[in-house]
Amino acid sequence: MSDSKNEYCPAKLDLGKATMEKITSLAKRRGFVFQSSEIYGGQNGAWDYGPLGIELKNRIAQTWWKEMTQLHDEIVGLDAAILMHPRTWEASGHVENFTDPLVDCKKCKTRFRADQIPAENLAAKKCPECSGELTDTRKFNLMFKTHIGPAEDTASIIYLRPETAQGIYVNYKNIIQSNRMKIPFGIAQIGKAFRNEIVTKNFIFRTCEFEQMEMQFFVKPGTDVEWFNEWKKRRWAYYEKLGVRMDHLRWHQHGPDELAHYAKDAYDIEYLFPMGWRELEGVHNRSDYDLSRHTQYSGKDLQYIDQDNSGERYIPYIIETSAGLTRNVLMILCDAYDEEQVAPEKQPGSSEENISTGNPGTADDWRTVLRFHPAIAPVTVAVFPLMKKDGLAELAQDIRKELKENFATDYDQAGAIGRRYRRQDETGTPFCVTVDYQSKDDGTVTLRYRDSMEQVRVHRTELVERIRKEIKEYKRIK
Ligand code: ATP
Repeated sequence: MSDSKNEYCPAKLDLGKATMEKITSLAKRRGFVFQSSEIYGGQNGAWDYGPLGIELKNRIAQTWWKEMTQLHDEIVGLDAAILMHPRTWEASGHVENFTDPLVDCKKCKTRFRADQIPAENLAAKKCPECSGELTDTRKFNLMFKTHIGPAEDTASIIYLRPETAQGIYVNYKNIIQSNRMKIPFGIAQIGKAFRNEIVTKNFIFRTCEFEQMEMQFFVKPGTDVEWFNEWKKRRWAYYEKLGVRMDHLRWHQHGPDELAHYAKDAYDIEYLFPMGWRELEGVHNRSDYDLSRHTQYSGKDLQYIDQDNSGERYIPYIIETSAGLTRNVLMILCDAYDEEQVAPEKQPGSSEENISTGNPGTADDWRTVLRFHPAIAPVTVAVFPLMKKDGLAELAQDIRKELKENFATDYDQAGAIGRRYRRQDETGTPFCVTVDYQSKDDGTVTLRYRDSMEQVRVHRTELVERIRKEIKEYKRIK
């Protein structure tokens, strides 16, 4: 961990504001996200999740999973393979339609998505970067193709799945039979997806390898509109529960030119990222398209037989909720990011009013803080001994051991205490416990809150219950 003098002093420009540069730099500095294969110059469109990043990603995934499966009796989970029979992608329409329009500049060799450059440049075939001549627009399929088995011929072509949804559709009958599911019911899945994106930028927002959290809900035709509205409501409430700033979320309904040919209705939940409003999750009414196509391509009867209704048969409609897990990680980082001017903090266990963070000048007065909901923070509680000596370090380690069974913990004994608080603020740790001389006498410690910086004296035996309660009742204050 770097401990430079300016560590806590945010960049002078855009003070107090989350920018992609600040998020990217903090993510690397603190071990959330690293560029893939960085020592070789990096691999475009791929990122590695470091020690804090994997904790954050896992917690977001667990929160979603709990919401979808544990809290919904009618939804079950699945983990389907990434490699699927190639016919799947013919049935789904991906072989034919999963394309982006592409143009290249003949002079500077930059590649663009034709729908993302100014219309006048496209019409004049003029490169927006160097004014060189652009090629004709051509369709570019986003699926990664490879071969299975030793022969590299057309018979051995296989795709890396571009979405997790198809793994659910092809298993829908298996799940009905094995788990006696009755419509309406859902199948949830979290997993990797791959897209050969032409333009990957904005850090982990759009990447070639990413993770999705998808839930496909199977309903009786005619009840689809009602269920679609219900799932819109539920997904909105989910982000509210996660503690996201709701004024940074909005709905965007797909217009006729955006709506996929099979979709009856589609809304995106958009988040106000530093680069503007962008899609975070889609809620789609996919009609009976998917199961009809798989019936047609597989030759298997995928109708639902309603045993409770005289054996009535129909192809279910599907309501899809499809969120990017890695895009959610970026959203949570942006949403949590804050910089603020603060007064120096009180020395735990001392009559002294204030302590210095160990930094000279105005850097003392600023902090960068990630205001994660405590339930998803990578580290829930950090334990510090005020001093390394006099048995305080051993006592602090002992208290950490008690907390470990219940929470993700960290331990830090390096540097001034104020500096240690700032380090934890920057990684979003909601609670810090400081062990001092009084702790040796009466077993009490200082519990310090990340958001308010308030410090309270608590007996070590009360810590677990207290922190649990705080997590449960957490309300973001800023
Ligand atoms: P976009 O318009 O951003 O390309 P999409 O409409 O193609 O996305 P869907 O196919 O609906 O996206 O995928 C569902 C979710 O998966 C998106 O809302 C997004 O969160 C995530 N996602 C899609 N493509 C990517 C990508 N290349 N990198 C990271 N996340 C992605």
